[in-house]
Amino acid sequence: MSDSVSTQAPPKEAASAPFQVLKVALPSPLRRLFDYLPARQAPSGGWQTGLRVRVPFGRREVVGVVVALAHGSELPRSQLRAINEVLDDAPLPQDWQWLCQFTARYYQHSLGDTMQMAMPARLRQGHPMAGRTHTLWLPIDTDDHVSLQRAPKQADLYALLRQHPHGLAGRAISAHGYTRAQLLALQKKGFARAQEVSLTAALPARTSLLAELSLPLNREQAAALAALHEKLDSYHPCLLEGVTGSGKTEIYLQLIEALAAKGKQSLILVPEIGLTPQTLARFKSRFKVPVVALHSGLTDPERLDVWEAAANGRALVIIGTRSAIFTPLANPGAIIVDEEHDGSYKQHDGLRYHARDLAVARAHYHNIPLLLGSATPSLESLQQALSGTYRHLRLTQRPSRHPPAKLELIDLRHQRRQGGLLPGAIAAIKSTLKAGKQALVFINRRGFAPTLACHSCGWIAECGQCDSRMTLHRQPPLLACHHCDSRRALPDACPKCGSGDLRALGSGTERTEETLQGLFPKVTVHRIDRDSTRKKESFEKILKEVHRGEPCLLVGTQMLAKGHHLPHVTLVVVVNADGGLYAADFRAMEHSAQLLEQVAGRAGRAAHPGRVLVQTLHPDDPHLGQLAEYGYGTLARSLLEERRIAKLPPFCFMALLRFESPNEDAALSLAQQAALALREWLTMVNLAVRCLGPVPAPMERRQNRYHVHIMLTADKRSQRHAAANWLVQWLEANREARKVRWSIDIDPQTLA
Ligand code: ADP
Ligand code: ZN
Ligand code: ZN
Repeated sequence: MSDSVSTQAPPKEAASAPFQVLKVALPSPLRRLFDYLPARQAPSGGWQTGLRVRVPFGRREVVGVVVALAHGSELPRSQLRAINEVLDDAPLPQDWQWLCQFTARYYQHSLGDTMQMAMPARLRQGHPMAGRTHTLWLPIDTDDHVSLQRAPKQADLYALLRQHPHGLAGRAISAHGYTRAQLLALQKKGFARAQEVSLTAALPARTSLLAELSLPLNREQAAALAALHEKLDSYHPCLLEGVTGSGKTEIYLQLIEALAAKGKQSLILVPEIGLTPQTLARFKSRFKVPVVALHSGLTDPERLDVWEAAANGRALVIIGTRSAIFTPLANPGAIIVDEEHDGSYKQHDGLRYHARDLAVARAHYHNIPLLLGSATPSLESLQQALSGTYRHLRLTQRPSRHPPAKLELIDLRHQRRQGGLLPGAIAAIKSTLKAGKQALVFINRRGFAPTLACHSCGWIAECGQCDSRMTLHRQPPLLACHHCDSRRALPDACPKCGSGDLRALGSGTERTEETLQGLFPKVTVHRIDRDSTRKKESFEKILKEVHRGEPCLLVGTQMLAKGHHLPHVTLVVVVNADGGLYAADFRAMEHSAQLLEQVAGRAGRAAHPGRVLVQTLHPDDPHLGQLAEYGYGTLARSLLEERRIAKLPPFCFMALLRFESPNEDAALSLAQQAALALREWLTMVNLAVRCLGPVPAPMERRQNRYHVHIMLTADKRSQRHAAANWLVQWLEANREARKVRWSIDIDPQTLA
């Protein structure tokens, strides 16, 4: 690499007299810093960590962050290049710097890449940090009644400004038909003045924080809130385990209110699917203080504005999905993670962080309360609560007083189905519609059918690039692989034997939708899955219509399961509950139980009791039986016991190494060498870490690449950390490792 630091350290004698060096984190997967000489012009506040700089890197110029100051380098001064430009006057926020350092260390990731990911795109691109401002025009009170007499247009404009004593933006003024010249004339005559304001400026102070009254809490809610109030000024991790619809959000709102009253900020994380306009509206309508949201719909400049408003304390309530955990806070008051069990908090590529786990670390750093809320807590958080590490707060009742419906298991074996539905389920849908209510049909597969098969020879449509089958779609008609996204036209005849007897095998959302539409032609059937909601806002549109309350049917994937308040739904049908029962992944049962309980929670949330029918091929499965009879809480506690006995998380700590290559042998051979080297090292240093593998990944071939895994497990986090750290360094130093793509996943959520 023709860069400022060669890979080889020169002999010690080469070092000369000390000279100032800046260690910079750069966008590079390499887990190291790069040394630079100071720029000719020192920044106004002197050199400090956290300043963004532009530096030469190879033949390019990149934006990096100064993370350490040093006197001297391993390289002679003559080989170092200088920083080209300093981009900031003030360093990036201290808490943000700390979180990036922590994240990079914990997840064994490059600090430079972590920082790049954790900062808004505009900062990454080298734009200035200052929040954007725009100009507001304000009227000036005056006794001058003459100056405008001969300028009727200016007089009209002055009258307009007086109607807007808080100011009008230039764009609004031109929308009223006035010119810039008229405005400047008014300014010159002393009738108007311009004021620069930030786009996310705080509102003028008001007498009260609340725009609408908070709800009087029920007994359980009041007890939970009181517990939170006991320790508002220090680290206080709490798990709020409350059944779906038990009023957790109301507790968040009242906690936020208490903190905002002291001028403190709350950071609220919600699942990807949870940050709907509905959710946001609920927070915005409660508070008068600025509520800002970080979601995928923001433009880059808007995202920077929100970041800035949080960093300087103007924004008191900040809501966002996973990556919002990296938002700096000037006066942190609390961090709230809603639906803390949700899978979307874990990033599944690149920097594989878990936003909930970072929330814990961050609350500890800031010394503030942490509130994790869920109807179906992760076994990790539940274990912390049961062991007393977290405070355990519980809500067992719904304000609507209808308890969540029990699951009724119905046997799929030996029965005819239509579009995946049993006669009993169809009858229940019919009577629900007849009663003027809505029903939700949950099916965890999009497309028309899971695959296409030939009835003459047994041929099955398989993906040419993955070890998987292709899903049959009808709208538009094609075969698609849901793992690599490759597509193929539907064959007219079997490619193997030529027979025309090709049939769809099983059911997906499209087929169930079609069946239901055929059975109930007068009723609207809304399909909700990734295909039907590709267009922006189409999901919102459907939800709006469903909220009107006319009888209708909803068919959808897990997009429907989470967070949505569907007051008119009184029946939920789960087409097939068996996905997670016998999967190889040890978390499969936990995740499918969470999903089932959340889907079931959509029924009977308002004034009407609900019913939940669960179709299964295994009605006698003990886990499923426990879930149906006693609910998620009970099942989760017995799953925890099983994990304890099997020494699985949360009773051990894991790191998963993934190796992939178009060449099967290359991936396997590197993984073997790595495992061997690690085992030798573990014996040498006498570290109690188990190293399993290499083994082929559950789906070995994906997109024509071969995947091989090594798993590390340890009883202690620190041991796992030491072993993972050693292995990553070994791989970085290994020449062969450059030919194989490898990555590390700390606390993996799936073994895929
Ligand atoms: P969760 O977040 O646990 O799913 P929500 O906070 O959304 O539950 O509450 C479910 C419903 O109950 C909402 O319509 C909410 O307005 C209502 N609710 C919550 N708390 C109260 C209360 N103390 N009194 C009356 N209604 C409440
Ligand atoms: Zn055939
Ligand atoms: Zn594929």
